[in-house]
Amino acid sequence: MSTTWHVLGAGSLGTLWAARLARAGLPVRLILRDKARLASYQAVSGLTLVEQGQARTYPVTGETVDSPEPIHRLLVACKAYDAPGAVAQLEHRLAPDAELILLQNGLGSQDAVAAQLPLARCIFASSTEGAFRESDWCVVFAGHGYTWLGDASHPTAPLWLDDLRGAGIPHEWNTDILTRLWRKLALNCAINPLTVLHQCRNGGLQDHQCEVATLCAELAELLECCGQPAAAQDLQAEVERVIQATAANYSSMYQDVANGRRTEISYLLGYACQAATRHQLSLPHLQQLQVRLVNHLSAHGLPSD
Ligand code: NAP
Repeated sequence: MSTTWHVLGAGSLGTLWAARLARAGLPVRLILRDKARLASYQAVSGLTLVEQGQARTYPVTGETVDSPEPIHRLLVACKAYDAPGAVAQLEHRLAPDAELILLQNGLGSQDAVAAQLPLARCIFASSTEGAFRESDWCVVFAGHGYTWLGDASHPTAPLWLDDLRGAGIPHEWNTDILTRLWRKLALNCAINPLTVLHQCRNGGLQDHQCEVATLCAELAELLECCGQPAAAQDLQAEVERVIQATAANYSSMYQDVANGRRTEISYLLGYACQAATRHQLSLPHLQQLQVRLVNHLSAHGLPSD
């Protein structure tokens, strides 16, 4: 009998994973934030995933944190700012051998969760898949990609990667997951805040090449200082490639701000600036970027943490 996949958070990525695991016949249970959300979910017939214009509904069982069943495998699919609190509510249900897969973008929330649960195995993930909520319980699979998974303290891959293979979730075990997460954080810091401040698509940053180059130089210095030289390599060239390849897209931070949603700033630019302070590094442009972004968010009535 396969171990049940408990999925915490039925948003974009949580639904994308839960639907594909359920489609492969694997046992999946969705953990929703409260009774009201559970009642709303139970009023529909399951999770709907829209792929290439085709919608299919998967009848995944929902529950709240108060459900009694022990949890052996937990996919944490909340935003970075919600993850530690949401996991804490489930602590009493985690089996001694529990494994958690943390899908959060940026850095900081994974360490916070791991520190709460010293006995559990916490696997960090970095994904280039893209999905968005069309409505409650209905998610559009918008961009095919890859998910890298790794555990900075144990290089051995878990056996359940076979479940992902069976479910058609493209993935790779990565023994250097921190390098991948740092690199993604640096790319995000060089692009996303500027798209918010200049109110432009990613391609609009081609008009701000000097600003981007200065930020890349400071970010590379930070990565080196944080023991991540591989993540620093050719950073500017990759940032320029990403800007070109995604020129028509609005960054995720731009979309969050445009839709009045809280951003994950504390786990991206905020995390980078905190690391710089810890290492007593002076990175004036990065720090100024954070001040400008925080002011912009406050001016739009959005939280700046
Ligand atoms: P999302 O659509 O906002 O989904 C987050 C879900 O977490 C929501 O359904 C929310 O519940 C739920 N949640 C929050 N607190 C909870 C709690 N205490 N108990 C139960 N559920 C709780 O976010 P997302 O886009 O999937 O992003 C998740 C993470 O993946 C982020 O760190 C993001 O940066 C990263 N990521 C996303 C994508 C993407 O394409 N979406 C791609 C790569 C990485 P409610 O529905 O009740 O609000």
